[in-house]
Amino acid sequence: MTLERCSECDEPTGRAGVHDDSLFLETPLDALGPYCLECYESVQEDICGLCGEGGADKVPHPHYWPNEERPTTDIVHALCEQEECRRAHAELTEDQLRAALESIRAR
Ligand SMILES: [Zn+2]
Ligand SMILES: [Zn+2]
Repeated sequence: MTLERCSECDEPTGRAGVHDDSLFLETPLDALGPYCLECYESVQEDICGLCGEGGADKVPHPHYWPNEERPTTDIVHALCEQEECRRAHAELTEDQLRAALESIRAR
């Protein structure tokens, strides 16, 4: 059995190896890893859920436009979110916009 090593710290991950229960980080760009649990958590901490780059430091906002892309992680770049939000907003028809605003208010 081959030992799966963490792509970050090079320690054995203690996992079964490629797929199965290996820890990979799915980003919009790529699948990164495998990682040991420790690195997985620290790497995951700053991967932007929209562009897949590290260094993100903003918690995504709780409300989305109907066609806005949802981040795949719990953190985003403020700029990425702003751009995606603006893009989605600009695409909405007036009816969609009104419905979206009503559903936010109804929560
Ligand atoms: Zn590691
Ligand atoms: Zn980003």
